[in-house]
Amino acid sequence: MSNYDNQNIFAKILRGDIPCEKIYEDEYVLSFKDVNPQAPSHILIIPKGAYTDINDFIENASNEEIIGFNKAIPAVAHQLGISETSGGKGYRLISNAGSEAHQTVAHFHIHLLAGRNLGPMLVSIK
Ligand code: AMP
Repeated sequence: MSNYDNQNIFAKILRGDIPCEKIYEDEYVLSFKDVNPQAPSHILIIPKGAYTDINDFIENASNEEIIGFNKAIPAVAHQLGISETSGGKGYRLISNAGSEAHQTVAHFHIHLLAGRNLGPMLVSIK
């Protein structure tokens, strides 16, 4: 949890200091709509604990938090009806970690994208 800035925007959302369009919440996670959607469904899933990125989360969170976070992913996908097992056509997960990945909010989060054909995973710009 070193370097975690509790003034980051997701920390403020977790505290209720600023609003979000909530999709799902449980003991371990909060999930809400991204304000700048890159697909018809663009949802963020964040842990309630203070972790800067996936490295910090996996290295420092408890097994209970890690399992709870991962179990929330299909729960959100099923709730939205975007998983193939809930009648949808699938979804993509992205988690940016660090500057070259263009992480802009330093509270670990996963982007869940769905609702259109998302094409190949990355535009090739080697
Ligand atoms: P990343 O660039 O991977 O760190 O993703 C951060 C994401 O947070 C971006 O997709 C932003 O559009 C999104 N975002 C920033 N502020 C908010 C907010 N207040 N509510 C919802 N999403 C936000």
